[in-house]
Amino acid sequence: MLDLHVHLLGHLDREASPENIAEFLNQGQNMGLKQIGFADHDMYWENLNLDMIRKVALDYPHLQVRVGLEVDYLEGKEKQIKEIIDSYPFDFIIGSVHQIGDWCFDFPDEEARHRQWEADDLYRAYFRLVEKAATCGLFDVIGHFDIIKIFNIRPRTDVRVLAARALEAVKDCGLVLEINTNGRYKPVQEFYPEFKLVELGRNMEILFTLGSDAHEASVVGRDLKEACQWLHILGIKKITGFAGRNKQIFELQDV
Ligand SMILES: [Zn+2]
Ligand SMILES: [Zn+2]
Repeated sequence: MLDLHVHLLGHLDREASPENIAEFLNQGQNMGLKQIGFADHDMYWENLNLDMIRKVALDYPHLQVRVGLEVDYLEGKEKQIKEIIDSYPFDFIIGSVHQIGDWCFDFPDEEARHRQWEADDLYRAYFRLVEKAATCGLFDVIGHFDIIKIFNIRPRTDVRVLAARALEAVKDCGLVLEINTNGRYKPVQEFYPEFKLVELGRNMEILFTLGSDAHEASVVGRDLKEACQWLHILGIKKITGFAGRNKQIFELQDV
């Protein structure tokens, strides 16, 4: 199993100390992970200690430890994003949309504002940004692809129609989609993306990876076995990891 979406710092809940890194890696090992990828939020750039992750990883020869970043995609900020990405030899970069304009829509108290939108318009505005994130050429993975459903507000139009262009961009630009299990612990109580979008991705031959989006060590690897079962049910036999921003393809049965 792989877990390529782990937040060592959480929301600045702890430091990137060797002890804290070891706690995440111990849990990764206990969960039987083959590869674990740290992907803290880019806004905590000054608090990262990426070399320390590589150093502590030497004590875990049976666990492939990868250093990534979860970048908040903002329209028009591509140049600044590129500067950050180019300043360290990352293994992978997740591009995630958490904002529409200056509205951070995934904060817990934003539900009322979600309900002010016509749901289809909200989904269109969100997936337009995901499409831009996919085509900007900066990312390897698109994070929590349908997080706009976080408050369980569903569009009237089939989500597969609303997401179609964003999915095509993921496919055309060679990006990987994660199955992010953290959505189950949000009001929507469902993985990101939902099953029928994973199914559509499979039909389009999009590659998948896995992420718990753990913001604390105890959550590393959570529900990923179930995510693997989704892939199995859909006949998906490969799963994608990364090293040095190159894809590493694993047979699902081997991880
Ligand atoms: Zn995120
Ligand atoms: Zn995250």
